[in-house]
Amino acid sequence: MTHYPDTRLFIDGAWRPAEAGRTIPVLNPATGQQIGTVAHASTEDLDAALAAAERGFAAWRATSAHDRARHMRKAAELLRSRADEIARLMTLENGKPLAQSKMEIMGAADVIDWFAGEGQRAYGQTIPSRDPKVMQITLKVPVGPVAAFTPWNFPINQIVRKLSAALAAGCSIIVKAPEETPASPAELLRAFADAGVPAGVIGLVYGVPAEISEYLIPHPVIRKISFTGSTPVGKQLAALAGLHMKRATMELGGHAPVIVAGDADLDMAVPQIATHKFRNAGQVCVSPTRFLIEDSIHAEFADRFTAFAQGLRIGDGLEPETDMGPLANERRIPALEALIQDAVDRGARLATGGRRIGNTGWFFEPTVLVDVPTEARIMNEEPFGPVAILNRFDRLDAAIAEANRLPFGLAAYGYTRSEAVAHRLSVEVEAGMMTINHLGLALPEVPFGGIKDSGYGTEGGSEALDAYFDTRFVSRKA
Ligand code: NAD
Repeated sequence: MTHYPDTRLFIDGAWRPAEAGRTIPVLNPATGQQIGTVAHASTEDLDAALAAAERGFAAWRATSAHDRARHMRKAAELLRSRADEIARLMTLENGKPLAQSKMEIMGAADVIDWFAGEGQRAYGQTIPSRDPKVMQITLKVPVGPVAAFTPWNFPINQIVRKLSAALAAGCSIIVKAPEETPASPAELLRAFADAGVPAGVIGLVYGVPAEISEYLIPHPVIRKISFTGSTPVGKQLAALAGLHMKRATMELGGHAPVIVAGDADLDMAVPQIATHKFRNAGQVCVSPTRFLIEDSIHAEFADRFTAFAQGLRIGDGLEPETDMGPLANERRIPALEALIQDAVDRGARLATGGRRIGNTGWFFEPTVLVDVPTEARIMNEEPFGPVAILNRFDRLDAAIAEANRLPFGLAAYGYTRSEAVAHRLSVEVEAGMMTINHLGLALPEVPFGGIKDSGYGTEGGSEALDAYFDTRFVSRKA
């Protein structure tokens, strides 16, 4: 049995309980049993974290990019060396299979390394002037202390992009990490603290998400916010940030279309996209959801995809043979049941799944719905669970129109052997990220973010650091 710790707050370089001594229970989604607690911050704790972040910013911005990168690379090394132990904590609190937890942690270490390097290459510009005696330059200066809010589906990955970009740019950061999955994020921050990042540069709090965001976002110490979560909450936080003129990055919900043309290589496409669908029990913002399959291959695709779903082994993520673990929290069960029932009531065919498994833990069957009418709720709301919709199209124009029908625009997928079809998908599908004939999303060096109601800003690629810099212009005459 892995020991599961009670998670504390990390403020001003110290792990401490909440000032008022309050805690929140943490449950194992595979059993529904309490495994520990997490400290519940109140205003006094947040004030202490803000004061520390202000001091931390003064120290960190004065640290050279070279030295910042050195600390960050050390943190990445520590994370890799502790990955097995941290993966067990993540699986205990989130439910995902151990191999997926380990992959998330190793991936996080790569994100840290990549941003460490980017911080050393964050160049300003020299702009040709109209007067030989004038020099015009731009400086990239860190925007200031950051407040980051992250969800439970990728307890470490959702934090590491924000944390690494902020640190590489010279900002301090307070992370409001997920209360459902607190222990593995705490280990991420511990790696940075153990790598020598000074007190106050990184802070970690938990509590009531709305209370914390309402306090931190307007606070004068905070200069930038970054949020990952649902679109309705993102819109509220973006409005609050706008009211207080704070910079914001919003990584919100999606409803990813998958366009499968009649000439697609199904031997490659089906196992690839089905594995991706059921990864993390479908609780992924870029999860493929609305499959639009050309009529000529729809029946074959649906048969193969359904067989794949039925072959998945569902169980406790700690068991090595498990392909898919439980849902991360109980509230997703009634949410999914209602979406599936609504689709069936409106005429969709349930090809497999659709129900909770057993009464212990929050397991749910991998589910395939076929021919779902457009007006069904699940065609319009993000299911955020192990449910695939297999619909059909006759003309590519219709498929692209359906892909673009929703206000979301995060990830999109395509399968085709035709250059012409691939080109049209690349330019006509409204999505922040499109990957065709393979899965190529979420590497640190490529952009990660959405358009339309899926948010704004990118958390990967060379643009990601810009969100943490102000560009200042200096014109100087000799
Ligand atoms: P939710 O909308 O209640 O919460 C989503 C996340 O936002 C949680 O981490 C929560 O702690 C946080 N949050 C909620 N209100 C907040 C506030 N006022 N201030 C700051 N943070 C706040 O939904 P949920 O039941 O936790 O998750 C289900 C839905 O959330 C899904 O339908 C999905 O759309 C969305 N979600 C998206 C992602 C993502 O990766 N984009 C991750 C998790 C959840």
